[in-house]
Amino acid sequence: MKKKNPINDYIDIQVAERRNLKEHNFKLKKYLIFIVFFLIFLLPFISPAFKSNFKVYFFRITNSKETVNDDLSILGHLPYNEISKEKLVFIEPNIEVHIDMRKSLLKMRDDAKKNGINLVFLSGYRSINLQKDIFYSLKSMKNQIAAERAKVSAPPGYSEHSTGFAIDIGDAYKRETDFEVEFENTDAFRWLKENAAKYHFKLSFNKNNENVEYEPWHWRYEGSIEALKVFEASNRKLKKLQN
Ligand SMILES: [Zn+2]
Repeated sequence: MKKKNPINDYIDIQVAERRNLKEHNFKLKKYLIFIVFFLIFLLPFISPAFKSNFKVYFFRITNSKETVNDDLSILGHLPYNEISKEKLVFIEPNIEVHIDMRKSLLKMRDDAKKNGINLVFLSGYRSINLQKDIFYSLKSMKNQIAAERAKVSAPPGYSEHSTGFAIDIGDAYKRETDFEVEFENTDAFRWLKENAAKYHFKLSFNKNNENVEYEPWHWRYEGSIEALKVFEASNRKLKKLQN
């Protein structure tokens, strides 16, 4: 009678399994070697693409910081800090400007008057909060998106009016052209174009400006060190655009 040995059976099975595993390992190694060779073969084709992707990615990381520092503008407007209240003076019951430019601005209006030109001051200093109201309320009123609105009004924190060095001017004889491009056809504008520089006033948004629409009524003062400092960044950007 043949005695059944469960232990042997057990060992046999184990041996058989082990052999099987060995064969399996061998196959796996073959596959691995094949894959490694295949990858080595592919390397010259893959690596340039990988390298360039890596470069693009790395370039973006290193340059993103630079871009932010280099150009802080939003929709074509540069950021401006709000002037401190002590530096503001009233030139009309409802119009405040930076104290540095009061004398020059009033002299300009007086001299214009001597030439038969009647300049009207429409808007001077505007707080960032007021600019917020103007920008967002007008935007929703006119059903405009921010980019469209920014062409005719600066986003809050980005208006020259918050520096106290900006003044919107109209023609007393042509009030219908207030804040309109047609203001450029008035005697007041022609006079300003010819004479404003003598009083250190300059048109902020001229016809060459790509991002912000032409504003013949909006002038800024560059006749003091503080004013020059404030607008230096803006001038630098303008130079860059013209080059
Ligand atoms: Zn303005």
